[in-house]
Amino acid sequence: MKATIIGGGISGLTTALAFNKLNINCEIYEKAPVLNEVGAGIWLQPNALKILDWLGIGTLARERGVILNQVDITDHQLIPFRKTSKELVQDQYGQGILAIHRGVFQKLLSEHLPEGVLNLGSPFSSSASAATKIEVVVGAKKTTSDLLIGADGIHSSVRKAIFENTELRYAGQTCWRGVSDISLPLALQNSGIESWGNKIRFGFSPISNNRVYWFAVAKSKPNEKDPEKMIKPGLTKRFKDFHPLVSKIIDHTDEEKILRNDIYDLKRLQHWFKGPIILIGDAAHATTPNMGQGAGQGIEDAYYLANLLAGNQKILEQLALFESSRRKKVDYVVNNSWMFGKMAHHSLGQKFLKIVMKLTPERTLKQQMAKLYSVKDFH
Ligand SMILES: Cc1cc2nc3c(=O)[nH]c(=O)nc-3n(C[C@H](O)[C@H](O)[C@H](O)COP(=O)(O)OP(=O)(O)OC[C@H]3O[C@@H](n4cnc5c(N)ncnc54)[C@H](O)[C@@H]3O)c2cc1C
Repeated sequence: MKATIIGGGISGLTTALAFNKLNINCEIYEKAPVLNEVGAGIWLQPNALKILDWLGIGTLARERGVILNQVDITDHQLIPFRKTSKELVQDQYGQGILAIHRGVFQKLLSEHLPEGVLNLGSPFSSSASAATKIEVVVGAKKTTSDLLIGADGIHSSVRKAIFENTELRYAGQTCWRGVSDISLPLALQNSGIESWGNKIRFGFSPISNNRVYWFAVAKSKPNEKDPEKMIKPGLTKRFKDFHPLVSKIIDHTDEEKILRNDIYDLKRLQHWFKGPIILIGDAAHATTPNMGQGAGQGIEDAYYLANLLAGNQKILEQLALFESSRRKKVDYVVNNSWMFGKMAHHSLGQKFLKIVMKLTPERTLKQQMAKLYSVKDFH
């Protein structure tokens, strides 16, 4: 069997690595001419780390990032609403959360692909069924395969080619992300923090011993832009009542490299596949980032899809099985993330969440995390 993967983001690259491990022939077509070291940081939770270990790159990933043993939601002065135990961010095997630069992570994935699998500067333009095969046009090239995988993100062209009227939902929030060249105080060197003020949030964690990934979230109309060279002054003003460390983190960031994205997710699709064409990652189920699980779910897709297809010629049956195996968890992530984001930016919602955080027994929280962190063992 041969698969054509469209998109060389985290989902597409991980899928190619998983296919390669299980001897499924595949090639990736990515529209960008180079895989840039762009982006800020990313948190990868134990479910994603288990799969990176299975792929044989977990240790390297940990070496290139920082393991967080603590993730606290705090007030604007960095006082946690509730002190979470170390066990809560870890799975039952003591696996913590990895904070890593996105570009560094993407490079790690791409450098483990066999030569010739990744084709850059190759945008998807169309596909057509031909007897039992599928013909795919990418850039100036036509390629034939048995399976087409759309891993081309929230604005997926593959999705638009197979499903009409899919809808993005604007969360009403915008997010700035950056990397600051500072070291955190000793007490925070293995911690992730999400600090809440009045309808605004600021989160950060180390991604190396002298770099800090941060994100800032506020309500906004879609497509609002910052005046030129005013991102840092604007953010410093917005977060002036927060702990002084927040202004320091903003201040030590290169203004030119700050990213701003409005937050959307994808309205639930009825199906993720049509014939031998399947969507994975953000192309299938883009989520708001509030649970830090978007990339984790793309990585899980890669793992499940590879394991279900390996040694199995009945592709369509396996695609249906893939969809039914993954739906419940993906729905849980997308729905809870959406609701959490809405409540965190609403005065009453914030109050309610704080009460829930204070009162929910540790046992219940652990059960919820176990659900999120569990990954099927195929062997
Ligand atoms: C603010 C923010 C913070 C986040 N934080 C986290 C976090 O901490 N942890 C986490 O797990 N997730 C996080 N996420 C979610 C995560 O970023 C996404 O879920 C993840 O990057 C999706 O990966 P993907 O490969 O499916 O899609 P993408 O990363 O969008 O990759 C798609 C790729 O396809 C390529 N492409 C697009 N169109 C074509 C075409 N026509 N032809 C060829 N190639 C094409 C693109 O160039 C791109 O390389 C966050 C998201 C946001 C917005």
